[in-house]
Amino acid sequence: MTTNEVLRVINPATGEPITTLPAASADDVTKAAEQARRVHDTGVWSRLPVRERSAVLLRLAGLMERDAEILARLDSEDAGKPITECRTGDVPGAIESVRWFAEAADKVFGRVAPSGPGGLGLMSREPVGVVAAILPWNYPLAMTAWKLGPALAAGNCLLVKPAEATPRSALHLAALASEAGLPDGVLTMVPGYGREAGAALARDPLVGALSFTGSTATGRRILKAAADSNFKRVSLEMGGKSPQVLMADALSYGDDLIDNMIEAAFLTMGQNCTAGSRVLVHRTIAEEVLERFTAAARKLVIGDPADPRTQMGSLIDHAAFDRVAGAVEAARAGGAWVHTGGLPHGLPPRGAYYPPTVITGAPDGSDVLTKELFGPVVTVQTFTSQDEAVRMANATEYGLAASVWTRDLDTALRLARGIEAGVVSVNAYSEGDITTPFGGWKQSGFGGVEKSTNAFDQWTREKTVWIRTR
Ligand code: NAD
Repeated sequence: MTTNEVLRVINPATGEPITTLPAASADDVTKAAEQARRVHDTGVWSRLPVRERSAVLLRLAGLMERDAEILARLDSEDAGKPITECRTGDVPGAIESVRWFAEAADKVFGRVAPSGPGGLGLMSREPVGVVAAILPWNYPLAMTAWKLGPALAAGNCLLVKPAEATPRSALHLAALASEAGLPDGVLTMVPGYGREAGAALARDPLVGALSFTGSTATGRRILKAAADSNFKRVSLEMGGKSPQVLMADALSYGDDLIDNMIEAAFLTMGQNCTAGSRVLVHRTIAEEVLERFTAAARKLVIGDPADPRTQMGSLIDHAAFDRVAGAVEAARAGGAWVHTGGLPHGLPPRGAYYPPTVITGAPDGSDVLTKELFGPVVTVQTFTSQDEAVRMANATEYGLAASVWTRDLDTALRLARGIEAGVVSVNAYSEGDITTPFGGWKQSGFGGVEKSTNAFDQWTREKTVWIRTR
């Protein structure tokens, strides 16, 4: 049964409606999965020679390049993200992802078992069949591409549910895929609400693998739905509360350190799963770091996301604003010191603008220290020893990312080994590049399942063929 529900896409920076789309119902999702299964079974994609699959995806990457400006504008308008960030980060990253997996498609080899003379064990990788991706709104195109690249390269039929607020870049991508020659029914968009279309994907018996990026609370629901339906393989990329650890020699990196700290903290207005929202700094340099970091945060240009000079746009909506402002005001009431930011003054009146905010002295257990606020709010805490730094870095239920700053190699490696996170970057804020696995530990997810050749593990199944030899 279809519903009459619609998705209202609103520009968060202005509050203006952009468009309205019919929302996929649970029934639409079921039908889309059945159709995808039929298409998969024809072999039109899964049995296409891999070089031809690769060629289609390379054409798609080329078309994304052609339409790069359109894609950047769609994400900027839907999510309130600065257009410069979309032009220089999200869109080139998405193109690279599609191209890299297109090129990698025919480099995924099977294995031969070291069996005795009585038999030959051949292990091959096969597509899962019908697979699905459920996406967040903070990196709409980039997250779509991280999943679509390897899922299609591996020969699957893919159903994609973009986030409610940001469906347009994924829909444009689907049109480009068609133009690139992707056979009908191999990629199906099911834009809809999480509780309806998302939940239907999670419990669909034909969906063999589902990759989710979003909040930890939703990830938990999806995993339960998978267990209650067909035990589809689920990969989860969820929240974070990532530390930036600055050892006593970190200031020797000068402005490079401060620039990276600012990017870690405030990229995408802090609505970034790997946001370095907890600065942990050696006591000896804390005062100078705080002063320079706060000064740099004050200089960030906040305003119209469509203006190329803008460095920070709007939060995704007013509910996000209330959540962020509430946590900061609660910390302030509990005795914390807000060095810059807090409630906005002089920002555009419409939209959900919140300034970059730096806090010290937050009370133990307060939300600003423990919860993923998903906004431009950073706490600064001090430590005096490496052990204490590692303990503080790990004092969170999340384990997505961390950065470590020191010139001493032994210290860097000890910290990197001690910190429980899927990605630890040294002397940079970075998630690595397309060749390195990405994924969180603990309640951030199941480890490095995105990017790199690891991504093929989630979108393929290994089959053993045992040949008796005589
Ligand atoms: P969200 O969990 O609210 O929504 C994510 C997606 O799940 C949306 O498409 C939504 O419609 C869908 N959904 C909601 N309820 C569902 C249900 N019951 N069943 C199935 N699907 C459902 O998250 P969000 O607010 O869109 O995104 C922000 C979160 O995403 C943050 O926690 C952030 O850290 C996380 N994130 C993680 C990564 C990563 O790689 N680890 C990357 C980006 C964002």
